[in-house]
Amino acid sequence: MNQLILIEQIEVYAPEYLGTQDVLICGNQIAAIEPELSIETPMLTRINGRGKLLFPGLVDSLVHISGGGGEGGFHTRTPQMTLTDATAAGVTTVIGALGTDSVTRTLPDLLAKAHGLENEGLSVYCYSGSYQVPVKTITGSVEQDIIFIDKMIGVGEVAIADHRSSQPTIHELARIASQARVAGMLSGKKGIVSIHVGEGESQLTMLQQVIEQTDIPAHQFYPTHINRNQSLLDAGISWCKQGGVIDFTTSTNEQYLAEGEIPAALALAKALQAGVDIAQLTMSSDGNASLPVFDSEGHLTGLEVGKVASLYEAVKQAVTQYNVSLSDALSAATLSPANILGLTQKGRVCPGTDADLLIVNASNLNIESVYGKGKLLVEQGMPVCKGTFD
Ligand code: ZN
Repeated sequence: MNQLILIEQIEVYAPEYLGTQDVLICGNQIAAIEPELSIETPMLTRINGRGKLLFPGLVDSLVHISGGGGEGGFHTRTPQMTLTDATAAGVTTVIGALGTDSVTRTLPDLLAKAHGLENEGLSVYCYSGSYQVPVKTITGSVEQDIIFIDKMIGVGEVAIADHRSSQPTIHELARIASQARVAGMLSGKKGIVSIHVGEGESQLTMLQQVIEQTDIPAHQFYPTHINRNQSLLDAGISWCKQGGVIDFTTSTNEQYLAEGEIPAALALAKALQAGVDIAQLTMSSDGNASLPVFDSEGHLTGLEVGKVASLYEAVKQAVTQYNVSLSDALSAATLSPANILGLTQKGRVCPGTDADLLIVNASNLNIESVYGKGKLLVEQGMPVCKGTFD
């Protein structure tokens, strides 16, 4: 028998504002959203939603779930993400990726970690490939990875404009995008190519050239780290005006900000002010990535670790500091990434979709409860569902 949970009289941001509603969860899905639902059965658990807000669980489109980094030697490889790193921070869906290192880090390890987190209560997808070109795969081809491996929804982060990139040619990038696109069409996925954009002066020029010289549409690419500096943000806004989408990275540190990085929440506000549609704008944590600090000669001088928790912090910051509407701020971490990645069950509060939900305090936006596919993962701000090694 499916569990029934009725969240009564809660203000719903779906992420669009729906006003005060009763929300019924049946098993792992949202069954109904109505101004008043009268249900009488002893099987029903009632939750008082007065004074609280209901949001979709966050969709974090880039997390190095199996660890990343390593740019400073073996001891600088970053740790894996744990279940509660995500759930305590309101993230119920993550997209795992490799990064710079696809030699000591592997796709089978990434995929195993994705299955492990899924067993523990999270929804997890991943990208084939890494920074490197030619793209590393599990099955031998990008197409087969996307078509035959359920969890693989695209390729990435393929690195451009970065000294750690494989320095791919336009032709190579176009080939990867066409393989991902066709494989996505054949398997009912979006086949997105996540693009790591580094500090290099070429910025988004390569992507620009691919869409000018081929039939690949701009939205096949999903470039991230676009809040790296004002000039890259400007290039990102132009890219959106050509039909592209862009992602801002919420993990940061004092040095990055001092050197000109724009907080993701501020970048979101600026892009919206520039007239970009919220459907083209997303934020992700880059959780468990290394945040390497290089000197002017490219030598590594420091290393920190990205936090999944920075995603919801950025959502709150967009609202409280940069006057972004709550709907738009939430969209950037829920509906927009879910739609870009083709995850139709995720990132929205809607009947028939997965019951991935956050109940937050209306006055301070602090997370009180988190549900993942109908299962209570966090209660009164504390994880009640722990990962195997949490
Ligand atoms: Zn990256």
